[in-house]
Amino acid sequence: MTITQSPPSTASKITDEELRHRTRELIADVPAEAKMYTFRGEQFDRGLAVVHYPQGLGGLGLDPKSQSVINDELQAAGKLISDMLVNPIGIGMGMPTVLTHASDELKQRLLRPCFTGEEIWCQLFSEPSAGSDVAGLATKAELDGDEWIINGQKVWTSLAHKSRWGMLVARTDPDKPKHRGMTYFVVDMKSPGIEIRPLYQITGVAEFNEVFFTDAKVPDSHRLGERGNGWNVAITTLMNERVALGGGVAAKGSGAIGSLVETWQTHKPDESDPTHSLLRDKVADLWIRAECLRLTNMRARANAKAGTPGPEGSVGKLLSAELNKTITECTIDLLGSEGMLHPPGYPLARSDNAIPISAAGQLTTSFLRARANSIEGGTSEIMRNILSERVLGLPKGPQVDKDMPWNEIPR
Ligand SMILES: Cc1cc2nc3c(=O)[nH]c(=O)nc-3n(C[C@H](O)[C@H](O)[C@H](O)COP(=O)(O)OP(=O)(O)OC[C@H]3O[C@@H](n4cnc5c(N)ncnc54)[C@H](O)[C@@H]3O)c2cc1C
Repeated sequence: MTITQSPPSTASKITDEELRHRTRELIADVPAEAKMYTFRGEQFDRGLAVVHYPQGLGGLGLDPKSQSVINDELQAAGKLISDMLVNPIGIGMGMPTVLTHASDELKQRLLRPCFTGEEIWCQLFSEPSAGSDVAGLATKAELDGDEWIINGQKVWTSLAHKSRWGMLVARTDPDKPKHRGMTYFVVDMKSPGIEIRPLYQITGVAEFNEVFFTDAKVPDSHRLGERGNGWNVAITTLMNERVALGGGVAAKGSGAIGSLVETWQTHKPDESDPTHSLLRDKVADLWIRAECLRLTNMRARANAKAGTPGPEGSVGKLLSAELNKTITECTIDLLGSEGMLHPPGYPLARSDNAIPISAAGQLTTSFLRARANSIEGGTSEIMRNILSERVLGLPKGPQVDKDMPWNEIPR
């Protein structure tokens, strides 16, 4: 396959027209039968992957708004694949964290296969006693020469069973206050000493796992940020997680709200039925709220910068989680007694994607899966805390253990 490279050009000179041209060139140059990895690899090499990333690292240093020019062209050619299907945790959270905190060598090694989907990523933050309060985590990392030895347990680790790389936060300095004694690593999930066990969810699908570390080794070169600075690196991951989970901009009227409108058309009560106008108003209200959220997310995305988004990313996360739950509930209400049946039965299955997509029983699966929306990536209560403290400037709740050495906190 001969692939021509676009001539190098300084970012400021690249117009939307030129970007459109480069995207069409990409589509024409990569054979139609090429694998997804090949296409996305070429997209990365030409700086059309994440256009606001630097040149040589998948972008062209442009304004993030320009990504829509590329995506529109890819969409029209049937070449746009959702990052949520390719590598949701890697692209949404791993890439910005690596870009912001990793060495140049790690950036070169990790970003491209993350974008292409050749190397799936997972997030090793939550533990049995550290979820919302992730800074209380106990998994320890001890330095031995130029390697760290990891021991402990993580839980709810989505896609760990498919992953090559894991974003791990571990306790390295237990005698320091909890936020100051953690360090961040990128761990090779195929290393000896890592055991991954499935956890099945209410949908019957095991998207996530328990992960046990027993003397697993990570080279010091895979540390992101300084020793003890893991909390700041984790903030980059968490803020991007909120944007990735809550900031999606799907086509107007698509997704859960599209399913609700379709269900209304096939299952609406007769106009003589007293519930007709009540349910019609509810469907209309949800459609308006979904559209307002979509437009808000479009505005937020246009202001996106490479690196660490601000706390306002919690707006989209909170609203989309709560709205998705209400929309899927309303859909099940419209189905009436049919909504009590779950056509796939209850087969236990492993998931290839963080977001399971099933054809049969899609509505009931979506309803069940939506329960997790207000827990994953930080609960709705935690999003409200962040917004009240960091956006509205209201006083913080009491934090009695904030300045205590972690190993003196009662647990
Ligand atoms: C589908 C799914 C996928 C996930 N994937 C991952 C993953 O890949 N990697 C990972 O590390 N984790 C993952 N998680 C874990 C998720 O981040 C945690 O479940 C979440 O942060 C909550 O932590 P917890 O379950 O320990 O609940 P807890 O922190 O014990 O919270 C229990 C309840 O107390 C409330 N609460 C806690 N603290 C406060 C407070 N300060 N103010 C008000 N209310 C509070 C919470 O809102 C919640 O209602 C996943 C979870 C789900 C459901």
